[in-house]
Amino acid sequence: ERTFEKPRSTRVFTVANQKGGVGKTTTTVNIAAALARSGLEVLVIDNDPQGNASTALGVEHPSGTVSTYDVLLGEVPMQDAVTVSGALESLWCVPATVDLSGAEIELVSLEGREYRLRTALAEYLRWRDEQGLPRLDYVFIDCPPSLGLLTVNAFTAAAEVLIPIQCEYYALEGLSQLLNNIELIKGHLNPELTVSTILLTMSDTRTNLAREVAGEVRGHFPNETLSAVIPRSVRISEAPSYGQTVMTYDPSSSGALAYLQAARELSDRGAAAATTESHR
Ligand code: ADP
Ligand code: MG
Repeated sequence: ERTFEKPRSTRVFTVANQKGGVGKTTTTVNIAAALARSGLEVLVIDNDPQGNASTALGVEHPSGTVSTYDVLLGEVPMQDAVTVSGALESLWCVPATVDLSGAEIELVSLEGREYRLRTALAEYLRWRDEQGLPRLDYVFIDCPPSLGLLTVNAFTAAAEVLIPIQCEYYALEGLSQLLNNIELIKGHLNPELTVSTILLTMSDTRTNLAREVAGEVRGHFPNETLSAVIPRSVRISEAPSYGQTVMTYDPSSSGALAYLQAARELSDRGAAAATTESHR
């Protein structure tokens, strides 16, 4: 198995879609695990009060755990909230607790409310550097199914957006609202933000519907849509109840192989983009 190249600088992704249940969390933890399994340093920031990404990474997150909430409110530096995941030694997590649901309101009156996560992450990367810790290769921020201040904080902290799209009938509904919001963020808060990656998830590969939806998404986003398609798989949905990603729970399953291919494309496309950049 070919290992993943280290990107030239830390790549920060926000995984977003204001629809719930489309595979944001599953995509976040499994792509992160696929990259970490080959030795890359990967951080998942759980930015959803439900804390599903924390659970899937085997990180306990009862209310009161030092978490994304404390980091956003500026009460602790990010390094105090970073925990190693249960399954892989170079996969890290800032857990989320239910306390985070209050942050949406508490942030409103705080200074720099749209940039709290960006600032905390930048300080953390600098701190790692000062400590002589290895540079992080990838950061993935898992978002709640809304476009509120938590998601805004994720959009200003990242350079790339990864949008999981479920292969179902209303897949594209609501997508223009998400893209409009990203344009607004780009125009007002974070000019470097780009939707670099779209991933088709939960595909019932044998059905015509899944093929039609995939075709439609590719028609709209030919450059962004990965060729990997994540199949609907029981192994993927079982893994979190063991505090695992499917990458360690059942690495040879179809779901794990599909996420591995998605991670591979994401890595190769990043390398290609970096090359284009340096030739400009
Ligand atoms: P979101 O974070 O967008 O709300 P999740 O990643 O939590 O979505 O997925 C919603 C539900 O669907 C979860 O129970 C998850 O385990 C399940 N699921 C996600 N992807 C798959 C898949 N490819 N096959 C089967 N179940 C999946
Ligand atoms: Mg989720």
